[in-house]
Amino acid sequence: LEPLYSLMIRVRVPGGIATPTQWLRMDELAEQYGNNTLKLTTRQTFQLHGVLKRNLKKTIHGFNQVLMDSIAGCGDVNRNVMCNPNPHQSEVHEQVYAASRRISSHLTPRTSAYWELWLDGEQQHISAPAEGVEDDEPIYGRTYLPRKFKIALAIPPHNDTDIFSNDLGLIAIEEDGVLLGFNVAIGGGMGMTFGMPDTYPRLADVIGFVPTDKVVDLCEKVVTIQRDWGNRENRKFSRLKYTLDRVGLNTFTAELNQRLGYDLEPARAYEFKSSGDAFGWTTGTDNSQHLTLFIEGGRVADRPGHALKTALREIAAFHTGDFRLTGNQNLIIANVAPEHVLSVQATLVKHGIEVAGSNLSGLRRGALACVALNTCSLAFAEAERYLPQLLTRLEESLKTYNLTEDDIVLRVTGCPNGCARPYLGEIGLVGRSVGRYNLYLGASFNGDRLNKLYKEMLDEDGLIETLNPIFADYAENREPGERFGDFTIRKGYVQATTHGQNFHA
Ligand code: SF4
Repeated sequence: LEPLYSLMIRVRVPGGIATPTQWLRMDELAEQYGNNTLKLTTRQTFQLHGVLKRNLKKTIHGFNQVLMDSIAGCGDVNRNVMCNPNPHQSEVHEQVYAASRRISSHLTPRTSAYWELWLDGEQQHISAPAEGVEDDEPIYGRTYLPRKFKIALAIPPHNDTDIFSNDLGLIAIEEDGVLLGFNVAIGGGMGMTFGMPDTYPRLADVIGFVPTDKVVDLCEKVVTIQRDWGNRENRKFSRLKYTLDRVGLNTFTAELNQRLGYDLEPARAYEFKSSGDAFGWTTGTDNSQHLTLFIEGGRVADRPGHALKTALREIAAFHTGDFRLTGNQNLIIANVAPEHVLSVQATLVKHGIEVAGSNLSGLRRGALACVALNTCSLAFAEAERYLPQLLTRLEESLKTYNLTEDDIVLRVTGCPNGCARPYLGEIGLVGRSVGRYNLYLGASFNGDRLNKLYKEMLDEDGLIETLNPIFADYAENREPGERFGDFTIRKGYVQATTHGQNFHA
């Protein structure tokens, strides 16, 4: 007898868009083979937790029947390509989403192993070599990449995919509703290791502009330089961010221009204003209706008085639009037909779901947590399960200082790998041991500046006692419109982090 292994499976959802049929299938598989919950991740994917090893094949078979897969959900390849999911925000959204699909498709491994191992040659929905034909990986070669690779696209002024935290970030540049192309940012990454100051989070540097029709090739060239130049001796230093800091941005960009066969154009002007989601109903530029729902911790589950999973299953049964997973672990019920608006609303209310998110504090609205204990084997501390309780205590403090409505970005992870991008939190908490966290302050509200360590090894009382006087100071002494992260720098609680290499300074 072998141990009763249970696993997590992540399903790739390029750009975060799933059809109602796909939603229903994920709901069903979670109930049948998982722990009857869905985790919406910070990279716009689905995770199923608690899948027993003996049910893996049946689960993957279930994905494939609705044209979903778990290829490149992990591993040393390009991961799920993120894209701003909210169709109402820009007329060019569909063009940017189409670019994200092309990039995802181009960088998906061609290997036939997935199909052979898990699907017994069942019909494939993405290209792979026919049976008997040797695999050819024109981009990844025989040894793949030194480490995982992450790409995100964003449409200013919304940085809800946190593009600077990616190996490759693409900032959409539009003019009069037409997508011209993308500013290219390279070298972002969140992970670091405690006790190793030569590991650090880093934000991507903007190096130029590429027209839309050349963006897929641009992605391939950046990936292949990293394939050829990345560190393959020590995985701690194998992400693109370390390659860049080793060879220098100019050397990397010169090689990129050489492989492209032309020079990148100078970057175009852009401005990001926020990295969070706006909740409630919105009308699209084409008059379509969209509802952004707050999903605490990204967890779709039924709880007493809050039957979210049931409500979304009932909606998926009649909804003719789609479901869009956001990079902030929330969900957009998108393109709702006019005749379904009232039914969507009524279904949510019937199951105890607050539609507009107006009962939430600004801190809770923007909070992210990774899964951590008891699901992630790398976790030192709680994150997702603990966040609601911590927020309730922090909200008491905020109420005292009349800051309940203020949007402040809070990110919590159970270890320094940084899956919920804690180093981009105006308040970042990173687990050190059970019940103890390092506290980071000073990130920007729009995701373009990292935070910095303020205090170490705080327990819950220590966190509250440390943050209370800073909240009080902020309430009394902030300048008009000044964000919490900016304030903590101006008042000298922490120094601004200007580059990953001075994150620890
Ligand atoms: Fe696990 Fe760490 Fe990632 Fe959290 S940040 S999910 S604890 S690896």
